[in-house]
Amino acid sequence: MAPPLSRQHALRRAVNLVNGTTAAGLLAARLGRVPVRQGPGGLLLAGGWNHPLPRAAAFTLGNVILYRSRVSQAFDAGPASALLRHEARHSSQYAVLGPAFLPLYFAAAGFSKLRSGDPASSNIFEILAGLSDGGYRTRTSRPHRHRNHRNCPNRGV
Ligand SMILES: [Zn+2]
Repeated sequence: MAPPLSRQHALRRAVNLVNGTTAAGLLAARLGRVPVRQGPGGLLLAGGWNHPLPRAAAFTLGNVILYRSRVSQAFDAGPASALLRHEARHSSQYAVLGPAFLPLYFAAAGFSKLRSGDPASSNIFEILAGLSDGGYRTRTSRPHRHRNHRNCPNRGV
């Protein structure tokens, strides 16, 4: 039997049930024909996602973490898993923002792509979820980020 949920995890689960994001995750799992099982902290683990999108090894919708088979070891490891902790933080972000999380996340990913050249390094949601726990590089900015190269004080460095 699973250990009792902490108050925070019970609240996260309840809020994500009410805001519909967990339902979206269960729907995605169903459409992707991915089995869902209970995970720690009231999370639901859906391993075996094999649709080409999103390209990430794992992604979260509400309390449902969907992941590819190649990272299933990380989710079998339980609460000690860094990737599980990372995705659990995204689940908590859903509890705060509800369905608005996704458009805000994509906006933050676009900003990060412009600023750092990838969708995660400067993405506030990925930073708050823990870049290294998610397997992302922790680069803070491009070494040469001035658009107008001629005016860049670091030109030639
Ligand atoms: Zn993430």
